[in-house]
Amino acid sequence: MPSWIQQAARRGILTSEYPGRPAREPDEVPLTARAPAFPGPGPIGSAAFAACPVEAISPAGVDPGRCIRCARCTTAGFRFAGPVEAAFRPRAGAPPAPLAGLGRSLHVFLVDAGSCNACNLEVLALANPLYDASRLGIFFTNSPRHADVLVVVGVPTEPMVAPLTAAYEAMPAPKAVVGVGVCPISGGVFRGNTGLRSSLDGIVPVDLYVPGCPPAPIQILDALLTIGGRARREG
Ligand code: SF4
Ligand code: SF4
Repeated sequence: MPSWIQQAARRGILTSEYPGRPAREPDEVPLTARAPAFPGPGPIGSAAFAACPVEAISPAGVDPGRCIRCARCTTAGFRFAGPVEAAFRPRAGAPPAPLAGLGRSLHVFLVDAGSCNACNLEVLALANPLYDASRLGIFFTNSPRHADVLVVVGVPTEPMVAPLTAAYEAMPAPKAVVGVGVCPISGGVFRGNTGLRSSLDGIVPVDLYVPGCPPAPIQILDALLTIGGRARREG
C-alpha cells in the first residue's frame, strides 16, 4: 500500500468528496470563489464603476476575466453570487468541453509566468491530502515531455514568453493549456505595466481559463476535470 494512503488512514484526514458531491462551503468555497453580480432591479449605479480598481464592471455586468475579487463593489450593492464552476474557454460562446484524445489520467506541468505566488500555491494545494488530486488520476510532473496539461499562473512576463512556448512545444499531443487566475487572462492588477503581455492568448493556445484572484483549488480541480471530461458543473 502506498505510504500516503497509510498516512491518511493513520491521521484520519478527511479528503474532499468533490466532484462526487458539491464542494463544501465555506471551507472549499470561500465567499470570493464566486464572481460578483449586481442583483438589481435597475441599472448598475455609477458608484460601482468608480469602486472597481480594474475596470471589470460595465453596463453588461462584471467581466470575470478582470475581476480581482476585491469586494469594493459590495458597497454599491453587488453580491458574490456567480457559479463556483466558472472556467471558460477563451473563444466567446464556446462551452467548456473535454479535449478529445486525452485519457482519464492527466499529468500536469505547472509554469509560473509571473505570479504573485498566490495562484501558484492554490494549484499546488491540489496535491495536499484535502484535495488529493491523485485520487482522480491527476498528477504533477516536472517535465513538459511527460505532460498532458500545461497550467500557467501569473501574468506572462517577456522573459517567460520563450520558455512558455518551448514547454508547450515539448509536450506530446494531445495536449491542453489551462490559464489560472485573472493574470493570464487579462493581466490582472499588473495590466498595462511594461515588460508584460496582457494575456496568455497569442503565446500558447489556451483551452480553458479559470477566473479568480486567486481561484479556489476546487475551481482549478474543476477545470482539470473538465479537460478530462469528468467535471461536476453547477446547474
Ligand atoms: S470585486 Fe473588485 S474587481 Fe471585482 S467587480 Fe467588484 S470592485 Fe471590481
Ligand atoms: S491572478 Fe491574482 S492571485 Fe493569481 S497571480 Fe495574479 S495577482 Fe496573484
